[in-house]
Amino acid sequence: MDKEFILGKSKLQWIQEYPVLKDIMDIREVLWINPKRKNFHEAMKNISISELDVKDAEQRLKRFAPFIAKVFPETEITKGIIESALFKINNMKANMESYYDGELLGNLLLKCDSHLPISGSIKARGGIYEVLKHAEDLALKEGILKETDDYSIIDSDIFREFFSKYSVAVGSTGNLGLSIGIISAKLGFKVTVHMSADAKQWKKDLLRSKGVTVVEYKSDYSKAVEEGRKLSEKDSNSYFIDDENSVDLFLGYAVAALRLKNQLEEMKVLVDENHPLFVYLPCGVGGGPGGVAFGLKLIFKDNVHCFFAEPTHSPCMLVGMATEQHNKVSVQDFGIDNLTIADGLAVGRASGFIGKVMEELLSGVYTVEDNELYKLLTTLVDTENIYLEPSALAGMVGISKLFKTVEGRTYMENSNLKNKMNNSTHIVWATGGSMVPKDEMMKYYGIGKDILSQENVQ
Ligand SMILES: *Cc1c(COP(=O)(O)O)cnc(C)c1O
Repeated sequence: MDKEFILGKSKLQWIQEYPVLKDIMDIREVLWINPKRKNFHEAMKNISISELDVKDAEQRLKRFAPFIAKVFPETEITKGIIESALFKINNMKANMESYYDGELLGNLLLKCDSHLPISGSIKARGGIYEVLKHAEDLALKEGILKETDDYSIIDSDIFREFFSKYSVAVGSTGNLGLSIGIISAKLGFKVTVHMSADAKQWKKDLLRSKGVTVVEYKSDYSKAVEEGRKLSEKDSNSYFIDDENSVDLFLGYAVAALRLKNQLEEMKVLVDENHPLFVYLPCGVGGGPGGVAFGLKLIFKDNVHCFFAEPTHSPCMLVGMATEQHNKVSVQDFGIDNLTIADGLAVGRASGFIGKVMEELLSGVYTVEDNELYKLLTTLVDTENIYLEPSALAGMVGISKLFKTVEGRTYMENSNLKNKMNNSTHIVWATGGSMVPKDEMMKYYGIGKDILSQENVQ
């Protein structure tokens, strides 16, 4: 709710202390540069998660690969490893240069988590990983599985019967529910997904068709999580996947970085002191972008610059970071409505866990208007023939924010990057899209087309 006092201070006081809040509350696009960012080694002193934890998660996914390949035939070509493509989008880049009227230096690449197998979004990383880890823990404890086994044995009635005694629950704006619902049902778990009001009907229908229990809420994501957590706690055989606090989810996302490193090497894209890497990640509660960004920092350290992207109507991570209050404040506290077409990002209160981990590692956060997301969606189809969901386009404007705003240019200057930008690489993390039904997608496309043609008339 819109409050007169937020943690004891009036909005005016908040603005005086943190001037960026004025534009945020006026629902204007901003680029906020993180004043607390430190060099990698300094920042890591305050973080207890390490590269070993990420490697452990990577190993676990390798153990499960034979099972994944068996039950999800679309992963056979990658031998059960759930990974997405990375490629250059030169046509899109040229289009944006003319649209934003200015040169955008460096390579522009798209990381297509939108086309990840099984659930078509970045949630196929963290969500699936955490369910697999939980299944492995249970099966090891029961003595029906050893780490050295070929995990394809999990695709059997013995295991399905065993897992059917347990349930998995999760709160979601849609995509996390989709990914956890699909993998849990495949293993044999009973699974309940608590869906916020933003969740699209087709996602609920799809889950129900797979035997998943879907509980619908009229309120936003935070409420769906809270209720799901409460209900799950009442049942000792129920495991709640906590998108706001889960380290496992985070580690599942972070594995992406180890694989991206290989992809960049294969493409002969250099990342070092003279070849900076910029990554733009759409952010909801923070787990997905936080995990990926953390993994990237472990590998590329000070040579990677990570920015989160949020809708102007749901800037929860930005509000949390800029006020230094993380999950103690919500966008609603500041009178912002949390209503956006970017359903994957429609979160009013960020994860405090992620806020803390990223506090000294993140380069900044920027916001994007919904209309911009529609336009970019349509433009990407027209230039590259790639269909993404609106949330996933939030990353696309990152490069123009960097080159076209005072804050962006100041960041490059202060970080000693100005003369290295010709050698820079920019990765837009495309977080979802391939599972959106065609008619739904064509509606988005049409809206973007309309907005663009109206602009041309003016
Ligand atoms: C969930 C999601 C995100 C953001 O991930 P969080 O962990 O919520 O920050 C971004 N894009 C899409 C399409 C998503 O579904």
